[in-house]
Amino acid sequence: MTHGEQIFVDSNLSEEAAKTQNPLSVCPEEILNNQVIVPVRYWSFDNQLHQGQLVIHKSLVEDILKVFEAIEKEKFPIASVIPATDPRFEWDDDVLMDQNNTSCFNYRTIAGTTTLSYHALGCAIDINPRLNPYISKKGIVSPQSATYNPDLPGTITEGSFLVSLFDSLGWEWGGRWQDRKDWQHFQKAI
Ligand SMILES: [Zn+2]
Repeated sequence: MTHGEQIFVDSNLSEEAAKTQNPLSVCPEEILNNQVIVPVRYWSFDNQLHQGQLVIHKSLVEDILKVFEAIEKEKFPIASVIPATDPRFEWDDDVLMDQNNTSCFNYRTIAGTTTLSYHALGCAIDINPRLNPYISKKGIVSPQSATYNPDLPGTITEGSFLVSLFDSLGWEWGGRWQDRKDWQHFQKAI
């Protein structure tokens, strides 16, 4: 059996489709114009090489390409990387998280607040959210029924190559927050 050539395409949206407006949360043009679509490769949980797409702030492209280069090299499994605009999600963060999908840009507020999330600016990434859930101050877990088990492949842990790499690039990890934990989340102020 030969292998190594085949790549499974999880996302192949046009730039226009990837930046479709959410009618429930319309993004200002100047923010939308800063977003670019970036193809990335990763080994998924089926042990196959996949290709997806991220929508991210243009100033963070170099960083995120370094991150995905390392993710592919280390074979750190990523379930899928599909923009929030994809018809499978329609910007719904609960669905994105439940499907374990990795994404960056999503013009939305922080859950339970009126404050814009770093995702609204394309300056944050959520990685394998089902394996790396958000746990609120009161212990509410998102997505529901998810658990954080640091022993599982695809889980983000202190001391891992992924956290070290994001550290070196100047990103902040939600897994280090004290009042809540957002294990899936990295963000960078620009
Ligand atoms: Zn996030």
